[in-house]
Amino acid sequence: MSVQGYNPRTGEPFGDPLEVTSDAEVDRLCEAAHSAFETWSGWTAEDRARVLDLVADRLDESSETLISVCDTETALGVPRLTTELKRTTNQLRLFADVLREGSYVEAMIDSPNMDIIPPRPDVRRVLRPIGVIAVYSASNFPFALSTVGSDTASALAAGCAVVVKGHSAHPNTTRETARVVSEALTEAGAPAGLFSVIYGTQSGVRLVQHPLVKAAGFTGSIGGGRALYDLANGRPDPIPFYGELGSVNPTVILPAAASERASDIAAGFAQSVTMGVGQFCTNPGLVFAPSSIVDELGKAVAESNGGAMLNERMCDSYRSHVDALSNNSLVSLVATGNAPDDAWAGKPALFSVPLETFVANLEKLTEENFGPSGIVVTYSDVNDVLPVLSRLPGTLTGTVHASASEHKEAAAVAAELHKIAGRLIYNGWPTGIALAWAMQHGGPWPATTNAIHTSIGVPGIYRWLAPVTYQTWPDELLPAELQDANPLGITRRRDGVLAKH
Ligand code: NAP
Repeated sequence: MSVQGYNPRTGEPFGDPLEVTSDAEVDRLCEAAHSAFETWSGWTAEDRARVLDLVADRLDESSETLISVCDTETALGVPRLTTELKRTTNQLRLFADVLREGSYVEAMIDSPNMDIIPPRPDVRRVLRPIGVIAVYSASNFPFALSTVGSDTASALAAGCAVVVKGHSAHPNTTRETARVVSEALTEAGAPAGLFSVIYGTQSGVRLVQHPLVKAAGFTGSIGGGRALYDLANGRPDPIPFYGELGSVNPTVILPAAASERASDIAAGFAQSVTMGVGQFCTNPGLVFAPSSIVDELGKAVAESNGGAMLNERMCDSYRSHVDALSNNSLVSLVATGNAPDDAWAGKPALFSVPLETFVANLEKLTEENFGPSGIVVTYSDVNDVLPVLSRLPGTLTGTVHASASEHKEAAAVAAELHKIAGRLIYNGWPTGIALAWAMQHGGPWPATTNAIHTSIGVPGIYRWLAPVTYQTWPDELLPAELQDANPLGITRRRDGVLAKH
């Protein structure tokens, strides 16, 4: 059994087939990862930060090869992949900075007070790394959400070990990336087994059930995510499974914005919905708008370009979804864009449907179509849209386009969107996710399996940490983060107050 890469532009095989990882080898790698964790979790934050920086540098130095292999295998294009690899290395460096700053351990110290009810002894709480993490690479971000993407970077930063299940859509990219990362880790003196990669669907099934695996991060389809989530929960010892799944990313264009900025909004929409051939989990696939702007949106989509999609399965699924909508008498085809002759090309498409028809067929018309297409739901009064928004499936983002005179309506839309979405965008587009402390990339099911965590941004590290409280321990036996003198100089919550002492 093997995993074969393909060139989506030609449909031809690319690179040598990679052997799938046997169950025995998955077990061996989990055991090696566990013993590496025992060492790595004891390293200082500064030492782990130094390793992350080195991995980032070595990836940057190998960028030419990595991008070339990845472009052949994904057809995402050199400009996009150059940016994505830089984002990936900057993500590693961001987590190195987070380690050096140190407050991510959320140290809390409460002094004893035996005169209150109930009496309080000396208690001190800190976040500790939890063990071996299973990471499932995403197909659509072969660097930033894959082998050494946000899940791996945050888990290694936390002090955990990682076993990555490579995505079958880009095995050569996975192997090349893993080679650079492994060599950098060895060069930095990191413990052997800290990071490894496995191939083949069954290996991922074995991984999530391995007793030494303590949590999993996943980015992919609702079906795949659900299958692995159920396995994680069906273990004798269920483990947290953080899945980023499907999302329709609703956008509401308010009437004055539609008339004042029609062509700007239309251009922004077409660019966002076709970015990466629409293969973004934050693709704005569902737009609520006055009918006056539909022609402008259609014009922009007609001028837009599609491209080769990541793999044959994704292309087939996209085309059959577009065919089904084209043959659906309830919706109208507004426009189609241009598509190259590539083997697995996806062509942009825009459909429209009146609000009443949409509401009557809500479940069918809110299925995510992963690719460069969207549906415009036309309304005449935004007050009719408001009660519909909270009935939409959970989503990663919600967007509003408003003019300066529409703040009241924008706030009303936001009040509904925040019930279903993890990130709200004002007069912008949801594709493009900043790497920041304040980022939330998550949302209620099916956007994610666990809406209170994020997979992108600094708080992603909290998925791999668990709190421990030390009660009445001698100072010298406490972790450095909790010792009285605060030897690491980090910000801590002392008797309820955040301070650097
Ligand atoms: P996918 O098919 O779910 O694959 C993701 C991973 O899960 C792969 O490693 C795959 O293994 C494994 N897998 C799939 N089905 C499985 C099963 N039944 N049992 C065990 N493992 C299984 O995802 P995809 O190919 O990337 O599909 C694209 C979809 O992902 C889109 O619908 C999109 O909405 C969603 N997506 C979401 C986000 C997000 O952040 N929310 C980001 C990107 C994509 P193999 O590789 O061996 O098949």
